[in-house]
Amino acid sequence: MLKGKVALITGGVRGIGKAISLCFARAGANIIMNYTSDRSAEDANKLVEELTALGVKAMAIKADVSKSEEAQSLIDTVISNFGQLDVLVNNAGITKDMLLLRMKEEEFDQVLAVNLKGVFNCSKAASKVMLKTGGSMINMSSVVGLNGNAGQSNYAASKAGIIGFTKSVAKEFASRNIRVNAIAPGFIQTDMTDVLSNKVKEEVMKQIPMKRLGSTEEVAQVALFLASDCSSYVTGEVIRVDGGMAM
Ligand code: NAP
Repeated sequence: MLKGKVALITGGVRGIGKAISLCFARAGANIIMNYTSDRSAEDANKLVEELTALGVKAMAIKADVSKSEEAQSLIDTVISNFGQLDVLVNNAGITKDMLLLRMKEEEFDQVLAVNLKGVFNCSKAASKVMLKTGGSMINMSSVVGLNGNAGQSNYAASKAGIIGFTKSVAKEFASRNIRVNAIAPGFIQTDMTDVLSNKVKEEVMKQIPMKRLGSTEEVAQVALFLASDCSSYVTGEVIRVDGGMAM
């Protein structure tokens, strides 16, 4: 489905991003991923080997998407090494959960800087390339951006912001053959959700009609649909992958 395409997946070394990197590589895409933590550097090297073994080109770069110059140099590195960019998945994201009364200003700022400004930084840099060739941008929102969640006002604001951003940019670029869509995952089993207590997990489970957590692969399959020509008439859309949680 993506043979010969080049895809950049931010935060593509762990969790949902890793599943997307693997899924896109199996579909024939060459993959570039970025990460920030030292912990991910070793994982990144192993994943590059795993992806290369699938017969595609792969590269991992250390870059912080919240910094505009690092996002620009990430896109520049993609072009200098691969010559094109067909798919951008703005997946990188963080949480710093706290009730509003106790939330520190820096906890709000950091989450907005990575989750929302990071999407702006990478989309802006990528659009300069995609305007010439067309492409697909996929932004990772959340059901929390649709419905809100106590203790996550910073995260919810960033994920709701991504939906407004997605629809606006989709309108700007529709005539230029760049499609821009968002995915709103529900409760997916990753490091991000592993840190939650069993009590919180049990409470969340009660809100999921399908009565189970989602897998990273189930999110990756929807990203593959949005990246490929199977979704050639889909733009400005938000697809929930949540077992019915936010319906
Ligand atoms: P995760 O396992 O915690 O992975 C997050 C990824 O983002 C890591 O690869 C991390 O890389 C990267 N990242 C963090 N800060 C970054 C920065 N400043 N610049 C570049 N990369 C950065 O999270 P996940 O659960 O896979 O979540 C992936 C996306 O899905 C996020 O946007 C998240 O909000 C969204 N989502 C997740 C769920 C869920 O249930 N898991 C639900 C809804 C939405 P390093 O560690 O190397 O920095």
